[in-house]
Amino acid sequence: MQTVRGPVAPEALGPTLMHEHVLCDFYRVTGHLDQILNDEGLAAEELLAYRRAGGAALVEVTTRDLGSNPAGLRRVSEQTGLHIVAATGWYRQPYYPPEIDRTPVNRLADLMVKDLTEGIGESGVRAGIIGEIGAHLDYLTAQEERVLRAAARAQRATGAPLTTHASMYPVGLAQLEVLREENVDLARVIVGHCDTYLDPAYHRAVLRTGAYVQFDTIGRRHMNPDGRRADALVALVRDGWQRQLLLSSDRCYRSDLHAFGGAGYDVVITEFRALVRDRGMADDAWEAMLVDNPRRILAW
Ligand SMILES: [Zn+2]
Repeated sequence: MQTVRGPVAPEALGPTLMHEHVLCDFYRVTGHLDQILNDEGLAAEELLAYRRAGGAALVEVTTRDLGSNPAGLRRVSEQTGLHIVAATGWYRQPYYPPEIDRTPVNRLADLMVKDLTEGIGESGVRAGIIGEIGAHLDYLTAQEERVLRAAARAQRATGAPLTTHASMYPVGLAQLEVLREENVDLARVIVGHCDTYLDPAYHRAVLRTGAYVQFDTIGRRHMNPDGRRADALVALVRDGWQRQLLLSSDRCYRSDLHAFGGAGYDVVITEFRALVRDRGMADDAWEAMLVDNPRRILAW
């Protein structure tokens, strides 16, 4: 697998968060100053809390249109000793640059392949994952479908994992339909933000395709109480889906960080771990979701 400090063997990864932002800028679209993360020193402090709690790695899904900073991620990785996987791609409709409309799908795919195989921009840092590739609402816009098809082609050309943003609606199924049309192996696909739409029928429909269901907004309590996330996750594990489940906390606000009173990057492996343990989840299921599954999906 590919990290910001170069290739590593999958076995080198311990507990891994699969959908985080360390350096990003949503402000230019949302207008919320809370959504700029651009302080490497602060990032390193926050990530060291995660490392002290037992964390070993994270996937940083900041795409080009969210201000990806691969050289910065490499410095933060060196400072903290954490493995960080960087991303390529474009996020979702309101964030897209005009080039999305003006560039052929195959050319967009080529740009992603270049990030994955040679390096992002001039940084020399290779991406290790495609996405987060998003849908803004409960359907794919024309441009979103274009980006998703390009992402699919980059996936097929490289074998890299593809991770999506499907928030508040069951739109992951529409994403999987396009990926299926593009002949992507859905076992290489992660449907993101499934815990923002806690419908067991949705989760099972995604799992039956072979894709991963990701609970990656853990700790974002204004969207769902973590207890409800834990209930839904434990039910999926009881039904035998532990090999297709992934976890993360999608830190992207300054107020998510400990420095501003938030739950930090360690919330999954500290507070949420306790919630699922209280509900009777066995250690091997936890290990599968946090270690084994990331090793499998990130290898390419
Ligand atoms: Zn997202």
